[in-house]
Amino acid sequence: MIVVFRPNTDEASSEYIDLRQRLAESISGIQHLETPRGKMTQWIINGHWHKTEISNLSFHPLVQKVIETASKTPLIAYDKHLAARGFEYQGLQFNQETCHLFAGLCAVDTIDHAEEVMRCLADHGLQTTRMGVYKPRTNPYTFQGLGQACLPSLFEKAGKHGIKVIAMEVMSPEHILEIDQALALSGHPTGVMLQVGTRNCQNFSLLAAVGRQHRYPVLLKRGFGLELSDALSAAEHIALAGNPNIIFCLRGIQSHTAAPHRNLADFAQVSVVKRLTRLPVCIDPSHALGTIASDASGIPDIAQATAQGIIAGANMILLDIHPDPKLAYVDGHQALTLSDIPKLLKDIRLLRASFEQRCAIWSS
Ligand code: PEP
Ligand code: MN
Repeated sequence: MIVVFRPNTDEASSEYIDLRQRLAESISGIQHLETPRGKMTQWIINGHWHKTEISNLSFHPLVQKVIETASKTPLIAYDKHLAARGFEYQGLQFNQETCHLFAGLCAVDTIDHAEEVMRCLADHGLQTTRMGVYKPRTNPYTFQGLGQACLPSLFEKAGKHGIKVIAMEVMSPEHILEIDQALALSGHPTGVMLQVGTRNCQNFSLLAAVGRQHRYPVLLKRGFGLELSDALSAAEHIALAGNPNIIFCLRGIQSHTAAPHRNLADFAQVSVVKRLTRLPVCIDPSHALGTIASDASGIPDIAQATAQGIIAGANMILLDIHPDPKLAYVDGHQALTLSDIPKLLKDIRLLRASFEQRCAIWSS
């Protein structure tokens, strides 16, 4: 059950403190949300409650409403208004109705390549990108990312080219502090969306760390071997720790049946995540497929999988591109090139329009 307090409830008031003491053993989490109507406090209450107790609670003067829910993930559960409202970051809206392309380097290898990508994105009117500087690598002898040292100049270049948000993987709470410092040092020229990678989907202390802060939204990638409900529970961890601004990313499931692709694309679940949760849904066709191969049509498999996700209503696309993929230190085999950007944008526009037409067909 969720107890929603009236906007701007004074948590120092004796009524609030009394109620909190009375229910202390049943409160499993407290959430604070910034909403257009002010600060909202929510308590997540566990256990089975009698109807009269629920009704008494809903008449408490500080309480706006009590939501009874059997959901294991009540804070991210579907809510029409929250799904449509989503959140704003760096002046951009992220919700279940918007669609953003985050194309960029899997791993920053040189600042020049990063800048070349950003310039190209800006030339095409894009304000968002992906750039990894902390790389989770299976083999410890491979490139691990440029790390903190490259951040200030990377952020400056982003600001120079009007890039407002960079999706960037973090693997530990220290990485968040390093991003804070680098943004401060460079004068906050851009914003960061903290990416929790597939390998860390159940790293609960990392989920709590990205959840405890509100400065950055979080892109959570589904664990490559996790049932959807377990991956959604990971998102609930972030929300429960206090950060409601989450995007859920489908990036393919590890399976020997996926070959010759790297993973089996799970984009048929875009609509499942959208109906179970209020979260915007991202697809990552690059890491799902892992190849830029195409058939005689010339359409790369990655673009085909992108199409599957967008035509089903995906809200964000994470895509590896590189100015010269053969020079990439990580995942060059799955990187599209800068000349693919205009093609991708045309394709995405077509697919979004088709999705909207399909909505009209099925809602009539
Ligand atoms: C990435 O996006 O760079 C990445 C490592 O992805 P994943 O966590 O999905 O493997
Ligand atoms: Mn990669």
